[in-house]
Order: sequence, then structure tokens, then C-alpha cells
Amino acid sequence: EGKPLRFSRILLKISGEALAGDRGVGFDFDRIGFFADQIVEVARMGVQLGLVIGGGNIVRGTQLSQMGMDRVGADYMGMLGTVINAMALQDVLEKKGLDTRVMTAIRMEELAEPYIRRRALRHFEKGRTVIFAAGTGNPYFSTDTAAVLRAIQMKADVIIKATSVDGVYSADPKKDPNATFYETISYRDVMLEELRVMDQTAITLSKENQLPLIVLNLHSPGAIVRAVRGERVGTLVS
Ligand code: UDP
Repeated sequence: EGKPLRFSRILLKISGEALAGDRGVGFDFDRIGFFADQIVEVARMGVQLGLVIGGGNIVRGTQLSQMGMDRVGADYMGMLGTVINAMALQDVLEKKGLDTRVMTAIRMEELAEPYIRRRALRHFEKGRTVIFAAGTGNPYFSTDTAAVLRAIQMKADVIIKATSVDGVYSADPKKDPNATFYETISYRDVMLEELRVMDQTAITLSKENQLPLIVLNLHSPGAIVRAVRGERVGTLVS
């Protein structure tokens, strides 16, 4: 209706914490339902949509390794956590009438399809929302890096990182009242100023592949829908 769509294929990254309640762990289905409505709306706009889900509400590899666990095993636990989240999100989205597929970077075919790029593209063509789970399938990486990787492999027009703040600031706005907000910023400046937009691996990968990134607030009503329409929302990193 009205405005032409600016993006036709989008990769949306949602952190594990977005699924959690105030304690930051487990699941809060009211909260999931709130942003799931936006996902459904975007999918109904005819946009091809891929989701990458984090796992921070279940396991963070670095935390377990600080507790003495070997990092590799800890990271595999983290990746399994993202699969748990993907299944929760899939359930919510399907109950809202969306056709979805979970694809995992680590094979577990009893519960989800393995990630196969061409098959994922076919799902997009058929209008299915694809939830990419298990990160990159490799320890020592993050789900932000997985999101960039899937976005460039799928040739998405943009990656949208939905966070708990409105976009990119010069400092953490939850701690520093003088933090200034950036409407746009270059990847170069993100690197130079060491802004914590995504981890360095993810930033480097998206910079090298000229993948634009929009950072916005997941909890701000309609933000994702407006960004998909090409309206100025959050911070554009390019
Ligand atoms: N992880 C990993 N390789 C990947 C993606 C994730 O080893 O490619 C592990 C890592 O231990 C990480 C955990 O999975 O801490 C959960 O992912 P992440 O911290 O990125 O989730 P988010 O912060 O987005 O909730």
C-alpha cells in the first residue's frame, strides 16, 4: 500500500535476550508475541525474510568457559541454545499463520532441516520465513557473525539488528547520559571508534561485502516494519 518497498530480501538478527523476561533468561511469550507480530507483518508485505536467532538467554559460551569449561564444548552448548530458541520462535510464528522453516548449521534432522543454501533460497521463493539456527556451526563465532554470513550468502539487501536500544550511540546510552545518537555511521568509523555494534568479525565481514546494516529497537512499535519500508529508523551503518 502506497510506498514502494525498498528491500526485497532481509535478514533480521534477534538476540536470545529478546526472548527472555526481565531476568534475561528463559522465555517470555508475551514479549515474543509482541515482536512476532511485526515479523508476520513484514512477511505479509511480500518481503523475503530470514531470521537469525541468538542464544544469550540460554547459554553463552564465554561465560561457561570463564567457569572452567572448555571453550569448544561451551560454544557448542551455546549453539544448541539457539536451536531451542528457534523452535520457540517457530511455534509462535506458525500460530500466527506464518509458514516457516528452521534450518540448522549443525545437523539434527529429526527436528529441523540442515542448512543448504539453495534450499533456503527455494523457501524464500515460496514465501516461507527461514529461521537460521545453530549460528555458523563453529565454536569461537557469534550469532552476529552467523547473521552476516547468512545475509551475504542469501544476497539479502540489508541486515537488521534488532536490539534493546534505539540504534548506535557514541557510548552505552543505558550507562552514559551524554551518549550521542548516530542516524548514520560508516563501518570505518564503527571500527575506529570501537563502537560495540556487532563483534569485530561480524563488522569486518559486512564491511568487506558492502552489506548495509540497520540497528534498531526491537521493542519500539512498528520499527521493523518502517525500516523495511525504507523509512529512517534506528541507525544505518554502511
Ligand atoms: N556460538 C558459537 N558459534 C556461532 C554462534 C554462536 O559458538 O557461530 C555460541 C557462543 O558460545 C555464543 C552462544 O552460541 O555465546 C550464543 O550466541 P550469541 O552469544 O551470539 O547470542 P546472542 O548474544 O545474540 O543472544
